Amino acid sequence: MNCPKCGSNRIEKRPPSQITPNSGYICIKCGAVLRGHGTLPIYIAALAIGIAFFVVMAGMLISEPGELGAKIPQALGLAAMGIVCSGYSLMQLLRHVPTGNPDEHDPWNNDSK
Ligand SMILES: [Zn+2]
Repeated sequence: MNCPKCGSNRIEKRPPSQITPNSGYICIKCGAVLRGHGTLPIYIAALAIGIAFFVVMAGMLISEPGELGAKIPQALGLAAMGIVCSGYSLMQLLRHVPTGNPDEHDPWNNDSK
């Protein structure tokens, strides 16, 4: 695999994060953080879930405005989850994917063998 920014093949897998076991790659040469192959649908789904939290929150606040005060802690919780979900997936979606053969040291693409 090669770095899409500098073309170097010195790409290392990043350690699993608290959010995903497949946290992508890092280029040793230029330090670019890269997204793993095949993770696009995962992050699009996570983005959709994040947006859904906002929709539910808005619906909750609009439906019964009289009880707004009691719903604010719940609404803030939903908004926080929405921000984490959509923010994290947007950040991941903006990252480049390494070029070249993804089967090289990539345990997430074993099904192609
Ligand atoms: Zn690079």
